[in-house]
Amino acid sequence: DQIKEQLAGLIRDVPDFPAPGVLFKDITPLIASPGGLAKAVEAMVRLSPSEVDTVLGVEARGFVFASPVALSLGAGFVPARKPGKLPAEIIETEYELEYGTERLAIHADALKEGDRVLVVDDVLATGGTIGAAVDLVRKAGAELVGITVLVELDHLGGRKRLAHLGVADIAAVL
Ligand code: 5GP
Repeated sequence: DQIKEQLAGLIRDVPDFPAPGVLFKDITPLIASPGGLAKAVEAMVRLSPSEVDTVLGVEARGFVFASPVALSLGAGFVPARKPGKLPAEIIETEYELEYGTERLAIHADALKEGDRVLVVDDVLATGGTIGAAVDLVRKAGAELVGITVLVELDHLGGRKRLAHLGVADIAAVL
């Protein structure tokens, strides 16, 4: 529809970033646009479950969307961060990248058992990052009630890769 077209028009394709052959979806023009940011967040909220206790956002671009989505849903916000950033006790998980591995962590007391958690990020590519976020939710004993992203890069097979996790709803605006 019209809003999708508008949002898609605010995302810049940058070839060969961060490595040769990669076409990077740059969301900075979209979030720099006052209407763009609001419309993106509204669209993400519309696709998300309404009964959410906590929105888990992934460092760093995920924070930009996860925080206003949390505000709109009346939920709290929990940051998932790279190693060495969180000051208190953490729960962490390791996941595969194209080359090597990466780690993601949340504070050990950030999610309570049974909390209804929505995972939010800007882009779903191969699914490694969202998979790690889901792992953290489960390690904390919380309940994953949905995943919402702004952009899904279908050709990278993220949705397929996440299927084995039994992840219920993956919603993408674009
Ligand atoms: P994945 O783990 O699904 O392969 O990659 C998703 C993660 O990498 C997300 O946290 C996202 O921010 C980042 N990412 C991967 N590709 C892109 C891209 O083309 N554009 C943006 N903005 N982020 C990307």
